[in-house]
Amino acid sequence: MTTPDAPKPHNFLRTQIEHDLAQGVYDGRPWGGTPGDAAHHAAGGQDPARVRLRFPPEPNGYLHIGHAKSICLNFGLARDYGGLAHLRFDDTNPEKEEQAYVDAIREMVSWLGWDWHDNLYNASSYFDFMYRAAEYLVGRGLAYVDEQTPEQMRANRGDFTTPGTNSPWRDRSPADNLARLREMKAGQHPDGSMVLRARIDMASPNINLRDPALYRIKHATHHHTGDAWSIYPMYTFAHPIEDALERISHSVCTLEFEDQRPFYDWLLARLAEGGLLAQPLPRQYEFGRLNVTYVVTSKRKLRQLVEEGHVDGWDDPRMPTLVGMRRRGYTPESIRAMVESTGVTKANAWIDYSVLEGALRADLEARAPRAMAVLEPLKLKLTNWAEVFGSADHREPCHAPAHPHQPELGTRQFSLGPEVWIEREDFEAVPPKGYHRLYPGNKVRLKYGVVVECTGAEQDADGRLTAVLATVVPDTKSGTPGADAVKVKGVITWVAAHEAVAAEVRLYDRLFTEAQPEAGGRDFLSVLNPHSKRVVQGWLEPSLASAQPDDKFQFERHGYFVADRVDHAAGKPVFNRIASLKDTWK
Ligand code: ATP
Ligand code: MG
Repeated sequence: MTTPDAPKPHNFLRTQIEHDLAQGVYDGRPWGGTPGDAAHHAAGGQDPARVRLRFPPEPNGYLHIGHAKSICLNFGLARDYGGLAHLRFDDTNPEKEEQAYVDAIREMVSWLGWDWHDNLYNASSYFDFMYRAAEYLVGRGLAYVDEQTPEQMRANRGDFTTPGTNSPWRDRSPADNLARLREMKAGQHPDGSMVLRARIDMASPNINLRDPALYRIKHATHHHTGDAWSIYPMYTFAHPIEDALERISHSVCTLEFEDQRPFYDWLLARLAEGGLLAQPLPRQYEFGRLNVTYVVTSKRKLRQLVEEGHVDGWDDPRMPTLVGMRRRGYTPESIRAMVESTGVTKANAWIDYSVLEGALRADLEARAPRAMAVLEPLKLKLTNWAEVFGSADHREPCHAPAHPHQPELGTRQFSLGPEVWIEREDFEAVPPKGYHRLYPGNKVRLKYGVVVECTGAEQDADGRLTAVLATVVPDTKSGTPGADAVKVKGVITWVAAHEAVAAEVRLYDRLFTEAQPEAGGRDFLSVLNPHSKRVVQGWLEPSLASAQPDDKFQFERHGYFVADRVDHAAGKPVFNRIASLKDTWK
């Protein structure tokens, strides 16, 4: 991170952490690394970090803008309170998890500017501990193996108005349960034939406390533990244990886990009573999810967009994945600024996509070099060129600041010749009211160049416009004495034909036409924006010939553009539009 982010407004998490720090709640915790992880077991002493948070993604897809919220929140709090944030792969589900996702997640957390130091963990490395914890609960009569079918279990769970019904297996002896659990572990029973459940209260008003499942049978290969296990812990059992083993102080999660908190506390308290875990235990705190308009943020739906070919992959620049946003040209700074501007609340919030674009503009306005580009080209012929400059081959040197407010970025050099590319919209044969650009008889300035006067246009046999004709007005070169003597109302951008660099320019727009694509249960695919990607062949000023992949620019009057990190190459430039200069969506 180059510059420290701005000070953050207060929120309930900061209040909680400050309270806990003041009370010394997490002072002097023993720290030998994570008890479940042999590699971290050696050291002893006290935890040097008073605040430990974590970002715990499941490696079953690519991170999206919603995850950025969680990442910046956890790592930001750790930074602000002298603590640490762990990156933990919550890989307790053997199916759908892959090393490729692990690698991509690591890369994107780093790209966002955060550092987990050596606190990189895998939930799967705690499987042995979790299993010991399960046997302990069974031994204390706090867990049992249930052999009801999934349908019976569902029916007996009850609902918000009806209490659940005890399973016929609920009062089996600890010894019998232990034997069964060991058979499950040894792979002696088929998937779905039984589960290990906590033994809490089938009549609890909180359905999450009605004997929640702790372990299920799954004969599946895990990307880390291979075929070692045929039972896997449920998320609700695994997650509190992961937090406790890593000595997390504040376990921050999204609102949908609020009803799980009583089980989180129940489980950790029982394991602490048994001496399996040490006090002080982590506490869970919930905050509202971040939702962004005009996108979907669910790994499942994003996968559907990719697999059904609605976009060109996970890193398609229209995707709200972090790999997609990076390719689109979003900077880590703008993403951090955006998620931080949304604050931390106890309610799920919608923010408009334009807030993201605003953060991007605010970041790039100050530092992106400027350049001229013509995206919908039309030829302009300066018919008196040889007369004014003495030769048809004359090239008139021009220059412009690389950035209007950053002189240290230097100047761009280019030149003007008898033929230039201008934007199609900068000529009208019959001007509408208030139109100050090219039309017969009108004068405009070619920005950083000369004033020209439009004299007419050329058409092909079918009457299609092929070129605009104009004459150079002598002694009007920008920056020369008397250049302003001729007053014009219009200034247009251009690129000289003799040195223009041909480029593919991808003009991206919103992926969906509706702000909330799924509102009212609508199929989000039915509101895909058919115009979300438009590819044009444009002309760029010569300074852009040396652009490197991922270099960002402001194309004057058009917006912010980035050289595509995948397809751009010297000699074959490809640029993506990140955002227009102004919010043009509404
Ligand atoms: P998805 O809904 O896309 O499948 P997830 O929550 O299942 O996401 P995880 O890998 O479990 O994906 O998420 C890791 C962390 O990111 C969790 O702590 C989760 O609460 C948080 N997170 C996910 N989506 C959002 C969001 N929209 N806003 C804030 N935090 C989020
Ligand atoms: Mg999840």
